[in-house]
Amino acid sequence: MNFHVLTLFPEMIVQGVNTSITGRAIEKGFISLDTVDIREFAGNKYGQVDDYPYGGGAGMVMQPGPVYRSYESVVEKIGYTPRVIYLTPQGKVFNQKMAEDFSKEKDLVFLCGHYEGIDERVLEMIVTDNVSIGDYVLTGGELPSMVMIDAISRLVPGVLNNDDSAEIESFHDNLLEYPQYTRPAEFMGRKVPPILLSGNHPKVDEWRRQQSILRTIERRPDLMEKANLTEADMKFIKSIEK
Ligand code: SAM
Repeated sequence: MNFHVLTLFPEMIVQGVNTSITGRAIEKGFISLDTVDIREFAGNKYGQVDDYPYGGGAGMVMQPGPVYRSYESVVEKIGYTPRVIYLTPQGKVFNQKMAEDFSKEKDLVFLCGHYEGIDERVLEMIVTDNVSIGDYVLTGGELPSMVMIDAISRLVPGVLNNDDSAEIESFHDNLLEYPQYTRPAEFMGRKVPPILLSGNHPKVDEWRRQQSILRTIERRPDLMEKANLTEADMKFIKSIEK
């Protein structure tokens, strides 16, 4: 998976993504990061890429030319028209299913806005997906693009040490993950649930599944409508409703 980020602040992306698990994945060649500095495509010696909004109003708007030329530089490099994600609070709210869908692409382009946003015409020309990371407004698209790159990278084969760990965690089957414990077996008088020390793996799996259901009902009841439940799950839910 090759991530291309069109941004006014490439250093922010480089520092963030080259750290921890994504950094190791870049070193090992499972993913690559290509930041494109939109300012380099300004077309004037001052590096100016924004201007006042037509029609008046507060703030500045990113001009279409530099954004389009930075996008073109990526298309020229890779030789085809890729999916382009515009990070915007007006987009579809990002979720795990979208991360799974994006993880199948060979290249993904992220377009980070700043100020009041980007001239609408260039967005109409190049953007394939408008994505938000939540219903709040940030100063720029860099943090949202890093959030997406992190979530998508974890689904690229080889990025996580254990391929299973991305499969059975929160949002798998639309359920939250069960609680996790590690050593010591007793911490300040609190014991690890005995079933986890029993060595009985089918029983551990059953307990974990039930904990996932309980946790989802308690913390994210909205997910339960879409949860993929088995007959055993339904039976368990009926038993706790009594
Ligand atoms: N004026 C815009 C509006 O009301 O929709 C908001 C512009 S915001 C201050 C500047 C940039 O930050 C946006 O162009 C976008 O790239 C990014 N941004 C802000 N909030 C975001 C969010 N929740 N999700 C994704 N990107 C966001």
